[in-house]
Amino acid sequence: MYLCLHIMNDNITNISSEYDRIRTLSDLEEEIISCRRCDRLVKFREDVAQRKRRSYRDWNYWGKPVPGYGSANGKLLILGLAPAAHGGNRTGRVFTGDRSADFLFRCLHHVGLANQPNSDHREDGLILTSYITAAVKCVPPGDKPTMEERRNCANFLSKEFDMLNNLKIVLGLGKIGFDACLHHVRRSHELRMKDFPFKHGVGYDLPNGIRLYGAYHPSPRNVNTGRISFEMMVKFLQQLKKEI
Ligand code: SF4
Repeated sequence: MYLCLHIMNDNITNISSEYDRIRTLSDLEEEIISCRRCDRLVKFREDVAQRKRRSYRDWNYWGKPVPGYGSANGKLLILGLAPAAHGGNRTGRVFTGDRSADFLFRCLHHVGLANQPNSDHREDGLILTSYITAAVKCVPPGDKPTMEERRNCANFLSKEFDMLNNLKIVLGLGKIGFDACLHHVRRSHELRMKDFPFKHGVGYDLPNGIRLYGAYHPSPRNVNTGRISFEMMVKFLQQLKKEI
């Protein structure tokens, strides 16, 4: 009887701490979505949402910061640069509704890290076993956030990191996503950025116990020039999947 009650209590504790975590994550999402800290990015994201791309003129653009998405229990964090003007900034979900997303989710689905090969909009049924986010939560002009904007947004990324209790591996997509992970770790551990140069395929053990990998960003530019291919990305993701 004691054992049963003990197990029940353990389960209740687990359920309640899971509930707390989900609630905290949703509080964080709300905090991110309402942020207006970077004047330049607030203006840009709202201008894009007003002007719209002709092919999306019937869309009600999101036009706000875009929080991360996926499983808070995930062992893998995929970390990109920022939402795309007519992707995340339109749909309200990171890596959703643009060609980078088409490429990335075809690869993630192929290796079993996503339930479907497409990421089109917030109600499309996408389920991830990992968590995906961006270093900067608002779309920057020319995909180039300033250092100040990157610093402004780093707190949100650190809070997302703190939420992911089972995290083992970070995959930085592009140098800015990769460096954002290093900046986060540098807040609590000694680390020299120059000891961790970014390159496609690199992997480093970081002093906080996380392993950081780098990959080229799946942007149309990188895909169309053959810098990264479906086969390359799949092979890389398969390797990561074995480690988580
Ligand atoms: S980039 Fe980050 S800090 Fe700046 S306005 Fe957007 S959410 Fe806020």
